Amino acid sequence: MTRAEDALSPEALGFDPQQLSERYRHERDRRVRDDAESQFVEVTNDSPFANKYLADDPYSEPLERAPIHDEREVIIIGGGWVGMMTAARLIQAGVTDVRIIESAADFGGTWYWNRYPGAQCDIESYSYLPLLEETGYMPKLRYSFAPEIYEHAQRIGKHFDLYKDAVFQTWVTGLRWEEADARWVVSTNRGDEMKARFVCLGTGPANRPRLPGIPGVDTFKGHTFHTCRWDYEYTGGSHEGNLDKLADKTVAIIGTGATAVQCVPALGASAGQLYVFQRTPSSVDARNNSETDPVWTAGLKPGWQAERQKRFGETLLGGPVYPEFEDEGWTRMVRNLQALAAQAGDVPPEGLGNLAQLADFKTMEQIRSRVDETIDDPELADKLKAFYNQFCKRPTFNDEYLETFNRPNVELVDVSDTKGVERITERGIVANGKEYEVDCIIYASGFEITSSYQRRIGIPIYGIDGESIYDHWEGGTRTMHGLMSRGFPNLFLCGGLFVFQLGANYCYGVDVQADHVAYTVSEVTRRGNTVANVSAEAEQRWIDDQLSAESSQAQLILGGSPESCTPGYYNQEGTHERYRDVRLESYGKGLGAYRKVLDSWRAAGELEGLELS
Ligand code: NDP
Repeated sequence: MTRAEDALSPEALGFDPQQLSERYRHERDRRVRDDAESQFVEVTNDSPFANKYLADDPYSEPLERAPIHDEREVIIIGGGWVGMMTAARLIQAGVTDVRIIESAADFGGTWYWNRYPGAQCDIESYSYLPLLEETGYMPKLRYSFAPEIYEHAQRIGKHFDLYKDAVFQTWVTGLRWEEADARWVVSTNRGDEMKARFVCLGTGPANRPRLPGIPGVDTFKGHTFHTCRWDYEYTGGSHEGNLDKLADKTVAIIGTGATAVQCVPALGASAGQLYVFQRTPSSVDARNNSETDPVWTAGLKPGWQAERQKRFGETLLGGPVYPEFEDEGWTRMVRNLQALAAQAGDVPPEGLGNLAQLADFKTMEQIRSRVDETIDDPELADKLKAFYNQFCKRPTFNDEYLETFNRPNVELVDVSDTKGVERITERGIVANGKEYEVDCIIYASGFEITSSYQRRIGIPIYGIDGESIYDHWEGGTRTMHGLMSRGFPNLFLCGGLFVFQLGANYCYGVDVQADHVAYTVSEVTRRGNTVANVSAEAEQRWIDDQLSAESSQAQLILGGSPESCTPGYYNQEGTHERYRDVRLESYGKGLGAYRKVLDSWRAAGELEGLELS
């Protein structure tokens, strides 16, 4: 036996890779559905059934105001991180006439809407929370809870004076380029017609909830809500839990993704009876949260946040693992890979794929062993174990979720045999041939993250000669830098799925784009131009780069492979064809490479690829 064979034998590893591969395949195959993404119900603003899941705002009183007809230099659609960071960078670049239009009653985007108990960001706060140095704020914990994050959004709004020009509780219903005066016309559900020279679309990757298309989903006579519109009036309590009004209620939650993992502990502690309907278990690693160390903060030098974000990104994408991230859950896989490589000695390049797979098995074995350590009943423990590669689904981190299933009032209902909940009735949920009568159904069923752009954004966009952007993209998204599309001048498509797929820390990717948009707008204006349209060649060059072998290869490592991963939104519910389309919406070489492309484009100072007039 060579040193590598010795180190990588089942005995040395502590698991049999062959057996695990077979189990992964089996678990995947029995969950793949022919109806793939069409198994979900589309939630639109104008569907009376869906209004409560999207248009209705349980957190604020409705606003009354007269329609607005005016003009701005820049309009940003969306007041989440993209909108706020883009506005902040524009203002820093001297472009101050900026209006944000937001559907919620305040800034915060996903953190405005997602107020469910236990909501938390599982990316460390020092890297995730934007503009910490600019606003002079230091998070209280390494992993912040939602109220602190929402408050920080408001802090940014105040710091950059974004409130004075913002328009809230307003849904954009259309975008039209008016050739004659080279302006965008932005229409809304309030009868507004606002004009702007530049528009940034920043509606985010997870702004539209999705509902499972379970037969009978609209017939239930009890109470229902989606986790992103948490109904505290019904449940009582707060983000901290203590959902006292559920004490005499039987509650069902459908879904066991990152959201459910965070809110199930509070539900289990408060509800009279809780049924958790699980189709696929999440991988649940330790959280190990801690308070921010004042000695560490006292020693920080200016520029620390950008540096930390960069190092965090590098660590996640294969190392080196910087010391500050050695105990970080997201780096467990990279650390395992490096340890295996050290044990195996020289591994030829063709063996690296196998080594990565072994490191993944090892990582998931460690995460599965947490289930055994927590759950006494081995049959229940097996159902709670995730048998797929770690990044097939969003990894989760929680110290209370698994423990909740030891409570006598909590029951896990495994619906994997029927590929999901069978049926919803007037009284409750049918699963595995049994009707569970419940008072309330909570949908932790996620968001339209990777469905078609049109369905996700829901805004008609007409550019030069009235061309619809969705027609322009019929064969796949066409952009330069993922930001601008030919025929749609002065329009920036910021954040969203493109950035979501670039790396785990969404806000860092958003800032990379925000800097770029701010530069482009200010530079076009400084040169005395009013219109910037991407040339056909520049658009094609970018697409060629996105589809290059190097990009495609990198993307497969980052994302969930459609052939081997369990179904989920990462791989369009396991369908191969759609996956290729979505790949057009990101940059497979990752955030570091993307940043370099944008940095050198700006450094060249040529606005290359833009036709200016
Ligand atoms: P997900 O899309 O991750 O999960 C949806 C859940 O609903 C899955 O468990 C899914 O099962 C289940 N489901 C769907 N249809 C059915 C059905 N017919 N029957 C039974 N179960 C069904 O949504 P989340 O809201 O949990 O998370 C969305 C994303 O939001 C995350 O991936 C993450 O990116 C982000 N997020 C981030 C957090 C953070 O800390 N930063 C916290 C929370 C969310 P199946 O897996 O089998 O499809």
